[in-house]
Amino acid sequence: MSELKDNPGITDSLAGQGISRRDFIKFCTLMAATLSLPSSFIPKIVEALEKKMKPSLVWLEFQDCAGNTESLLRATKPTIAEIVLDILSIDYHETIMAPAGKQAEKSLMDVVKNQKGKYIAVVEGSIPMKDGGVYCCVGGRSAIDIAKEVCGNALATISVGSCAAYGGIPAANPNPTGAVGVKDAVPGITLINLPGCPVNVENITATVVHYLTFGTLPATDRLGRPYFAYGERIHDHCERRAHYDAGQFVREWGDEGHRHGWCLYEMGCKGPETFKNCPVVKYNEGTSWPVQAGHGCIGCAEPNFWDTMAPFYKRLPKVPGFGIETTADKIGVGLAAAAAAGLAAHGIARAIRGKDEKEEKGE
Ligand code: SF4
Repeated sequence: MSELKDNPGITDSLAGQGISRRDFIKFCTLMAATLSLPSSFIPKIVEALEKKMKPSLVWLEFQDCAGNTESLLRATKPTIAEIVLDILSIDYHETIMAPAGKQAEKSLMDVVKNQKGKYIAVVEGSIPMKDGGVYCCVGGRSAIDIAKEVCGNALATISVGSCAAYGGIPAANPNPTGAVGVKDAVPGITLINLPGCPVNVENITATVVHYLTFGTLPATDRLGRPYFAYGERIHDHCERRAHYDAGQFVREWGDEGHRHGWCLYEMGCKGPETFKNCPVVKYNEGTSWPVQAGHGCIGCAEPNFWDTMAPFYKRLPKVPGFGIETTADKIGVGLAAAAAAGLAAHGIARAIRGKDEKEEKGE
């Protein structure tokens, strides 16, 4: 940690941007809540962020739509993004950095060379493996070549969004580019997966804040997802849950139940099978999230969701063994089997075979 760059007075620096100490403390309180920590940890977070440490971060974009970058940047004032930019030294990010071309690539390689083992790599987008990785190149180098060097020399890598975590939409059947997530492209690295389409920016920030506060990365489930964000189902914190329990369901878009905010289960909501804290942190600084806006969850934080969660508007099959006390690790195998049963009913046998093969290999 002593190798990190100086961060002279974060509160002074934020004040210069019109962000008060009160806003900073509110941010630290939000981080404690996101990490499911009691309020007694807020002073520890404040103290950690006020220390003169500023880890270097490089953000790689491969086969992606830049939706995770948009998630980071779409915020109102005082922005979480501004606070993050003060906590971190973002030394490379193609979308938001001023330099371009060879100058930009030099910035990336300078970090890899001069801060080996000390910087954080963030990856957005999947990595194509087919035909030598020719389907995604940056500065004349393939994504897999860049990922091996940058992620392989990082302190830790954070995969943001479902494409970087599992391959996402580029990896959907028939996966023409052989797209995979970072875990499969660069095995053996220290990796945190933050899937979702896009990621909730609070979860990126909280992961970094956890590291700065405790010196360790947060505990994860078998898919590399931190428990604080992916330990419970969407369904367990959904604001429409009371309607589910009362048997009040939307049956048709725009019907009376839809207008009154009833449960979207019958309209295909995948909240009962999806582990993520969307109902708690939401998007755009807590403004809203898909179910609040009237659309069912499509399960985008789960592996291969584009194949396994389709059809998005078809009601989930009844899945035995799902209780409110259930965790992602406990139901992992049961969930996969249930999803497979649902897929078989819809004739997507090829997707099932791929999933089963992966499970046999213990992936
Ligand atoms: S809308 Fe979806 S997540 Fe919310 S209670 Fe209904 S089924 Fe569960």
